[in-house]
Amino acid sequence: AREAVLAAGNGLGATADGHPVPLLANIGGPGEVESALEHGAEGVGLYRTEFLFLGREQAPSAQEQEAAYAEVLKAFPGGPVVVRTLDAGADKPLAFLPAKAAEPNPALGVRGSRLFQAHPEMMREQLEALARAAAQASARVQAMAPMVATAEEAARFAAACREAGLPSAGVMVEIPSAALRAADLAAEADFFSVGTNDLAQYAFAADRQLGALTALQDAWQPALLDLVAMAAAGAAGQGKPCGVCGEAAGDPVLACVLVGLGVTSLSMAAASLPAVRAVLARHTREQCTLAAQAARAAVSPAPARAAARSHLPGLA
Ligand code: PEP
Ligand code: MG
Repeated sequence: AREAVLAAGNGLGATADGHPVPLLANIGGPGEVESALEHGAEGVGLYRTEFLFLGREQAPSAQEQEAAYAEVLKAFPGGPVVVRTLDAGADKPLAFLPAKAAEPNPALGVRGSRLFQAHPEMMREQLEALARAAAQASARVQAMAPMVATAEEAARFAAACREAGLPSAGVMVEIPSAALRAADLAAEADFFSVGTNDLAQYAFAADRQLGALTALQDAWQPALLDLVAMAAAGAAGQGKPCGVCGEAAGDPVLACVLVGLGVTSLSMAAASLPAVRAVLARHTREQCTLAAQAARAAVSPAPARAAARSHLPGLA
């Protein structure tokens, strides 16, 4: 993937002083690979596999899963490809699972990796399809679990990945408890990826689908920045990488702040990659660190953004 990025005339993600920050794409399936490559993605930081499962009468077969995963892996031979296991349930119901009683608070219900506690065979099948796809594509795949709340859950996922023959098992940090106990989770997982969309939802008790609460969904909220810093520090303490794959990574100014908080890679909608790459290349890591400190010292989003900008002179 590095060669393809360079051949297309895109630089690799890095700060002005040469500190590498891999810039990756969020995709929902093989259909989005082309756009990711066109925008210079160095790999995939979040492959949302739920699109293969939603709105179907039957679960996709192991063969169908393997083919979809292999197609993405083949497009990024050297680059990282992070495949997130099924993140469904609750408000994204699966027609082929026996109906459960309606949940009063779907966002707090049996969703994401929690589904696999009742359906371990589904997770096993997905992880095994992933391992076969990686073998077929001769690629290194990184499996990632959504909605992980505790170190115990991270350990369970890592064990399932090992059993399926997968070399790397990461977890999303998108529930505040995971950030609060980041060191414990990092001892069990190979990497973190912070999902700022859900992390904001759960930290501020603000439904991400409610337009009336967008102020609380603002990733510039200092409390959210604190949680990202905790996740990054917990990972660094164990020598593990910590990326961000929520919408926040696609805001060029915030991307600099995230790097300053200790985040090691950024994954975003492909169209956001060029602007983030350009702004990052104009600032040193030291400037990013100062911007991050200034943002965290603010008490609300607008001053946090203004304070960060004052340390990032290369902004247009
Ligand atoms: C997130 O929660 O920030 C995230 C990247 O995952 P999704 O938006 O798919 O929930
Ligand atoms: Mg999420």
